[in-house]
Amino acid sequence: MIMSNNIGRQYSLNADEYKKKAMEILDSGWYVLGKEVEAFEEEWAAFIGSKYCVGLASGLDALWIAFKLLGIKNGDEVIVSANAYIACVMGITINGATPIFVEPDEYDNIDANKIEAVITPNTKAILAVHLYGQSCDMTKIMDIAYRHGLKVVEDCAQSHGNHWNGKTVGTFGDVGCFSFYPSKGCGAFGDAGCIVTDDKALANKFKIFRNYGSERRYYNQIVGANSRLDELQAGLLRVKLSHLNDFNKERCEIAERYLQGIKNPLICLPKVRPGADSSWHQFVIHVPRYRDELKKYLKKREIETLIHYPIPPHLSEAYTYLGYQMGDFPIAEKYAAEVLSLPIYNGITLNEQQIVIDAMNRFMEASLYDTSLFGDI
Ligand SMILES: *Cc1c(COP(=O)(O)O)cnc(C)c1O
Repeated sequence: MIMSNNIGRQYSLNADEYKKKAMEILDSGWYVLGKEVEAFEEEWAAFIGSKYCVGLASGLDALWIAFKLLGIKNGDEVIVSANAYIACVMGITINGATPIFVEPDEYDNIDANKIEAVITPNTKAILAVHLYGQSCDMTKIMDIAYRHGLKVVEDCAQSHGNHWNGKTVGTFGDVGCFSFYPSKGCGAFGDAGCIVTDDKALANKFKIFRNYGSERRYYNQIVGANSRLDELQAGLLRVKLSHLNDFNKERCEIAERYLQGIKNPLICLPKVRPGADSSWHQFVIHVPRYRDELKKYLKKREIETLIHYPIPPHLSEAYTYLGYQMGDFPIAEKYAAEVLSLPIYNGITLNEQQIVIDAMNRFMEASLYDTSLFGDI
């Protein structure tokens, strides 16, 4: 069975280093917000090229706390791509703000040419989601934000260390938000997240907010949250980070093999926007016809695939209150019906990659009429 993402493989590449670090922290007797967190924050800021990093409990926390500290509140509008992950939208709505959706373009990220048309006097920010490991067009987004006086938050949960015109994503907007959920590029061994920013005062606000609104124990300046990063995750993330450039390089090699090897007129391969590079968090193909049939066909061959994401946020049950209907964002809806993520993870063998490529190339219209190729699924 070839899993869509086998995180155990990545772990096994450096298992001894993680075990040693974990034991060290268990023995230290200090478990939340300590020297590992501080060291990780410094190292992550340096890796991204930002002045400050603040460790938090998750990527969703990074998003909603960012909007809150940037003053986004009830009645404000935040622009986001219509094919984003549901957590991106929750990061906006937790504060009572309204998401304003914009269709994605052929690179699966927000179509920056369609942003200005939806700006109103209530628009306060743009959430640039770098989906699947690829940067949005940050030149256009920053230009629009500057001209309209909007804040920019970057959701880099799927884009750890990739670039737009050579500059690392997360460094363009007011705040860059990261998730270290285990399946992400630099994945922790549980939940974790962080923000990066060049604004010292803002970074300090995050530090206060994450710990019940206090800088000094039992002196609470504001009503905050508990979004602390623990020592175990921070220490293990430091080990991961030390290998992240190699991990990203390996993913590029896997993607390149897929891009070269998969030749099937039923399948549209992912495109990388000129100016961007991808860290290939996902390898997402578009299958305009027969996506579900291909998924079943691959499953029969013990190749697991995922759909990122089957329901666009505007049609999610959680957002019925926004009042959208099928047909409101036809491109995002079309993408939801045709995207498929192929197995990509560190430690996937050449043989496994070849099995995926061969299966992809053998799938054709005629396969649909041969029931033996699908099985009872
Ligand atoms: C994973 C993810 C999040 C949420 O991160 P959590 O750590 O799971 O809260 C937000 N946005 C995007 C694009 C993600 O992929």
